Amino acid sequence: MKFYLPTLVYSEKHCVENHKKELADLGEKAFIVTGKHSSKVNGSLDDVISALSSQGMKYAIFNEIEENPSTETVMKAANLGRAAEVDFVIGIGGGSPMDAAKAIALMINNPGRDADVMYEKCELHDALPVVEIPTTAGTGSEITPYSILTYHKIKTKKSIAHLVFPKLTLVDATYLKTASAENTIYTAVDTLAHLVESYLNTNSNSFNRTFSMRGLEIWGSVKDDIRRKKFSEDVYEKLMEACNYGGMAITHTGTSLPHGLSYMLTYNLGVPHGRAVGVFLARYVRLFATHGPEDARKVLNLIGFDNLDELEEYLDFILGHVSVSDDMKKANVDAILSNAAKLKNYPFELTEDELLKVHRYGEE
Ligand code: NAP
Ligand code: FE
Repeated sequence: MKFYLPTLVYSEKHCVENHKKELADLGEKAFIVTGKHSSKVNGSLDDVISALSSQGMKYAIFNEIEENPSTETVMKAANLGRAAEVDFVIGIGGGSPMDAAKAIALMINNPGRDADVMYEKCELHDALPVVEIPTTAGTGSEITPYSILTYHKIKTKKSIAHLVFPKLTLVDATYLKTASAENTIYTAVDTLAHLVESYLNTNSNSFNRTFSMRGLEIWGSVKDDIRRKKFSEDVYEKLMEACNYGGMAITHTGTSLPHGLSYMLTYNLGVPHGRAVGVFLARYVRLFATHGPEDARKVLNLIGFDNLDELEEYLDFILGHVSVSDDMKKANVDAILSNAAKLKNYPFELTEDELLKVHRYGEE
């Protein structure tokens, strides 16, 4: 068995302040990469600026990362970061700024190369060091080496071909408090999907399953709070912990069908990532159970559901209905059937009919 996870992770209140000296070890000038608003509101940006300033460090800020960041935005930011002669990159926010930070750190160090090289398995100079500070509890991007970008050239989202592990991750669940209930629910479902897709995965071994099992137990312990939209400090902390475990788990295995199928919903219909993944989750576990009933039952038990109907009803209730046309379903199934990289993480043969059934929702 093998497991590789080189990121130094701290998780505690006042994490940024507590570890500011470790930021200073990464260089003299930081490139802060964030979204337009949320990091100003939840306190994370102020915390980072005061930590850098107290260490006498310089910084430049790029605050234009959109949801599901595009390769164009990454290239724009990389050019600015290179011109500003930064030594390392700090991603602050949800998965979008954190994923973008990894790709930006890579492209800053590869001047003269175009965006396509991010998707090619070619030799590139190593990325600048990356620090991640999550403000959503969903993607696990603070731990994973993945960067998923919107690639308009192929009209979908796709993980870049180069792995960029964060050097340092500073986790403080306090930043979650400003998120809307809707955002908290969708991101929590993303975490649930990571934990499940990693457990039920061709690449699974007992290392990643240990992370999934603990994460699923924690997720199960707050599932009623999520249903009631009751988000206390304790719930935020548990969601963040489950999210970190999800990141550790998929770092080893990658994700599976729900993630592979979700990108079309996000690209074409603008459905937020966690909700788009959740649309496929219950039916995917149901399909898996036809071949691997014991593993599927184990997952349900860890979350605290007695059967598959309970999981499906629960996700239905918290996510609501997403309408997908029959044409779109068919196009999505055709795309995934011709994507060997996505299919390989599902351990059984797949038919077109099975994949159509994994689409939880039809037209209203
Ligand atoms: P996101 O796209 O990063 O952010 C969604 C929204 O939430 C934005 O409007 C953002 O505002 C806001 N927001 C973030 N933190 C907030 C807070 N504390 N309070 C209030 N609002 C807040 O959402 P996400 O679900 O975390 O990330 C999704 C992206 O991650 C997708 O592109 C997905 O493909 C990717 N992903 C990556 C991995 C991986 O392993 N790398 C895994 C799963 C998903 P601002 O724009 O103003 O910041
Ligand atoms: Fe995800």
